Order: sequence, then C-alpha cells, then structure tokens
Amino acid sequence: MVQPKRTWIYPKIIKGKLYKYRALLSYFLLALLFSAPFLKVNGEQLILLNVLARKFVFFGLVFWPQDFYLFVLALLTFIVFIVLFTVVFGRVFCGWVCPQTIFLEMVFRRIENWIEGDRIQQQKLDDGPLTADKLFKKTLKHTLFLGISFLIANTFLAYLIGSDTLIQIITEPINAHLSGFISIGIFSLLFYLVFSRMRELVCTVACPYGRLQGVLLDNQSILVAYDYTRGEPRQKIKKGVESEHGDCIDCNLCVQVCPTGIDIRNGTQMECVNCTACIDACDMVMEKVHRPLRLIGFKSETEIKTKSAFKVSPKVYGYTGVLLALISFLLFLLFTRSPVKTTILRASGTLYQLNDVNGTVSNLYTAEMVNKTNGTIAFQIVPDNKSAKIQYIEKPDSITYDGSTKTTFFLILPQAGIEKYKTSVGFRILSKGKVLDRFETTFIAPPKP
Ligand code: SF4
Ligand code: SF4
Repeated sequence: MVQPKRTWIYPKIIKGKLYKYRALLSYFLLALLFSAPFLKVNGEQLILLNVLARKFVFFGLVFWPQDFYLFVLALLTFIVFIVLFTVVFGRVFCGWVCPQTIFLEMVFRRIENWIEGDRIQQQKLDDGPLTADKLFKKTLKHTLFLGISFLIANTFLAYLIGSDTLIQIITEPINAHLSGFISIGIFSLLFYLVFSRMRELVCTVACPYGRLQGVLLDNQSILVAYDYTRGEPRQKIKKGVESEHGDCIDCNLCVQVCPTGIDIRNGTQMECVNCTACIDACDMVMEKVHRPLRLIGFKSETEIKTKSAFKVSPKVYGYTGVLLALISFLLFLLFTRSPVKTTILRASGTLYQLNDVNGTVSNLYTAEMVNKTNGTIAFQIVPDNKSAKIQYIEKPDSITYDGSTKTTFFLILPQAGIEKYKTSVGFRILSKGKVLDRFETTFIAPPKP
C-alpha cells in the first residue's frame, strides 16, 4: 500500500494577545524546566525522577520504593485531574503547558523563522535548488537544533539520574562514563528528530492523550471553536459587492497559523492542540473588518448552538468529587508518612530461649530500618511493653542518609506475664524523643504452667 506523502506545515506566526500570554507562560515554564534539577531544597534537587534507583524527589521531599503506594496514588490523582481538566477545558494543556508544544513553538519554530524567514520564504527555500545561501541557512538551523537538543537531553537526564551524576559524567573522562555519554547522544538525537522532523506528528499521531479526547469531551467542554452560527455562510470580501453573509470572510488566516494544519471551521478535531493561534489570527481579521471579536474563541458546542452561558455538566461534579477525595487521601498519607520504614523478622531457625534462673524468655530478632529523610537519623528502639528489655547483638546508633541499617537483638520478657504461645509485641523507633515509626511482631514463648 502506498503511504500518503506528508504535507509539511509552514505555520504563520501571529503575535496576538494570546500568543503573548502563551510566550510569557512558556518563558516561566522553560526557566523552571531547565533550573529544577539544579536547584536544591533540603540538600535534594527540586525534582528528581530516578527510576533506576527508584528514588523520587518533589520539592525537597524524598520518596523511596517503600513509598510506592504514595507514588501510585499521586499518579492516579494526576490522571483524574487531567481528565477533569480536559472535560472542562479540552486540550488546552497541550497548547499552553506541554513541553513538546512549548519547545516547538517558542524555541525551534522561532529559530527557524529567524534564519529562514516567514512561511512563504521557508517554502521557497525548501522548494528551491541547493544554493550557497540555502546550504548556509540549513546548516546553521540544524546546528542550532542539535545544540538545543543536546541541552534538552542533558536536562532530561538530570531529572532521571540527578544533576550531580550528570555533572560527573560531563566533567570526567569519556571512558569513565561511556554508557552515560551514549545515553546523552541517543537522547540528543531523539529530541533533534522530534523537533526537526516529527513535530506535530507527536501530538496528532503518537500522543495517547490526544487520542483520548473523543472519549472525554462533550458538548459542554470549552474548546477552541469556530462560531458557525455567526460565521456562516462565509464569503470573501468583494469590492462593491454587498450581500447577506456571515462574519467569516474566508481569508484562511486561521488555517495558515495552525501548527497542526487543520481548519477549525470544520469543527472540533482530534488534531487541535488548543494553542489558540487561530483565535489571535481571526481576532486580527475581525478587528480589520470591524466585526465583533472571537468568531473563533474558547466556547462550548452548547454555548455556540443555544447562545447560552457555560454550564457545569453532572460529569464534572462527579470527577471533582473523586478528585477531592483522592487529594484528601493523598495529603493524609503524606502528612502521616513515617520518616523510617522498619521491617522486622525473627532470626531464622530460632524459637525462644528460656532462662530458668531469672524466669525470662527471649526471642532473637533482626530489624532493618530504611531512612526516608534527607539526613542521618540517630535512633533507639523502645518496646511498648514496659517490662520488656532489649539486649543487642549488633547495635547501630544511626541510619545514614540514602541508606538502611540492620540491628540484631534479643527481646526479653518475664515468663510470668505470658499467657499464650504467640503474643503480639510492639516497638517504637525514637529519635530525639520523637516517634519516627511503630512496628509489631510476634513473640513466641511457652505460657507459664
Ligand atoms: S480567520 Fe476568521 S475570518 Fe478568516 S477564515 Fe478564519 S474564521 Fe474566517
Ligand atoms: S485549530 Fe487553532 S487552536 Fe487548534 S491547533 Fe490549530 S491553531 Fe491551534
């Protein structure tokens, strides 16, 4: 089967009101994206997503594999938030916040326009023969594209492996970090291909979120939409010809600015990333022809059809309820999260030891404590039962940052107080008088006859 040839899109850039807001938001997000792995809070980088070491940091809070349930819950909350946001505001996240759009529209596209000129000049350059000027412009553009892709790849890796490790890779000899260098090279090439070749295909073909729109959107969702009740029948302006027609003068400017190459007048389409470029373009035209603005604007289908004000659908109330419940539960778990995670096991092959001289029974345990904070923790284990005593075989006093420690000890109880073969015993991990964790295990002993 012959694949249809891709039509290369040369969008026109119109710096309207919304474009300026979008640019400001993009500068802020770009600054955050590039600086977050290099900013430190409580000695930790602002955001770290180290999948390999299973360590995640958000604003100074460290999450380890033991916090996986929190991670899953946070992910679930985020998904519900995105769904809710999409149901109400459509795909505006794609056009205004997604790094793919921000880099493409605010960085790569601008460089392209700066070097090759506007859409008509770019088209001419691409269609024309290879001249010294074309060679120079193309070489300069792709060199800059590669350089920025290299920068993005490094930042991306700083999120994954940590900025300190990244700096080590960059500053030390290549052979000491061969796999690190290969990863930087692969990611740089990948980003270069995405922004120089794939472009809008990432949003229209590859991105699963875009494909979900059909399921999530309804007639109440606010989207970038064309007001066909006002615009149709469209007609080009002809000098001296007056006729009854809608506000759309069929100038095609909304199509020319569209980065995904669609005509929004054909209705809501999966390819629309809600970048709002067509709103700016059409507003500019409406201003010129002295017609009210927002022939294309943020509107719901119901709003256009019935000219009624925006109404929240029952679906939104449902999602909001679920989202609030998830956020409350997540916050509760976050605030009650213990800084130490303890696992305790009775030493294998042992049951109990009777001491007939002083009438006590002892069990041997091994406990492992994982430090989930960003500092070393001095600690002591205290049994809940006041008559119980601990006799250590191996006694560490602290758990180092980023690590865990093991302790082996006997728990000794007077046999007189034991009523069952298996008794539940509780412990607290104390640090500077503060309870860091609580854990329980079973104590085995023959009841006193
Ligand atoms: S920019 Fe406005 S007037 Fe021009 S074609 Fe698009 S909708 Fe019609
Ligand atoms: S239709 Fe308008 S909002 Fe949608 S992608 Fe094209 S220009 Fe952006």
